[in-house]
Amino acid sequence: MTQLEIPATAAGERVVFDDLEIGEIAVDLDDQEPEDVIEWALEALGDRVAIVTALQADGMVVLDMAAQIRPDIRIVTVDTGRLPQETYAFIDEVREHYPRVRWDVLFPDAAEVQVMVRQHGTDLFRRSVQQRLLCCQVRKVQPLTRALRELDGWFTGLRRDQWASRAAIKKVELDHDHGGIVKVNALADWTHDEVLDYIREHDVPSHPLYAQGYTSIGCAPCTRPIQEGEHDRAGRWWWEKNAPKECGIHCTIETGNFEHEVEAIFAEARAARGES
Ligand code: SF4
Repeated sequence: MTQLEIPATAAGERVVFDDLEIGEIAVDLDDQEPEDVIEWALEALGDRVAIVTALQADGMVVLDMAAQIRPDIRIVTVDTGRLPQETYAFIDEVREHYPRVRWDVLFPDAAEVQVMVRQHGTDLFRRSVQQRLLCCQVRKVQPLTRALRELDGWFTGLRRDQWASRAAIKKVELDHDHGGIVKVNALADWTHDEVLDYIREHDVPSHPLYAQGYTSIGCAPCTRPIQEGEHDRAGRWWWEKNAPKECGIHCTIETGNFEHEVEAIFAEARAARGES
């Protein structure tokens, strides 16, 4: 790969890029292989970068590639409390396969979940898109957002062909929704078939629900196998019409007054904890 700019910082200092710098690096990396993109990020961001993944196929490819370069790479995943049992079993399988990887399994804030469930019920996500996004905020987006504050960069398994909202992603970009840290989308220009080929050829562990017709795996009540001819993400929140198949961690979702509800829940949770 071409020689790219790596910022020199003292140990422990944050690694920060501006839009211009990361834009130039993104142009240089755009025709590079995923492994080269990952290598650049590991070198540039040191130990302040982690793979953030729900252990789906794309994330597993990124993990496998990164672990070849840095066996003790950090991995961050969220236990929303609503995951399928198969995912818990798979986490243990992946831990055994990559014994040196450093895990951070995040949980939602108990007080926030408690307030949300008291106000809206356990399965609020069935009622409206707004309530589904509320649940995703509390159970998934907030724990991740808190973790991202401690990082200078994160690896995703995003690909441009997954959904319209992902069509323009760069291989590296600044994530202004999370403090301007670097978002590394090493598989941006890969197809689903390339991901599957890599998994087969490199003997990468694969989530057991893929064998049951699932193509995108999230929480148990919000994910189903797809029918023939459906889009890969059609099994996520399948009852919603014309809503983004996103939880909100990868893009800002405009939904009217959804943010007010989130803020109200956080405020009540803070009060319950005795915080101002
Ligand atoms: S995927 Fe469903 S259960 Fe999971 S956080 Fe989102 S709405 Fe809640």
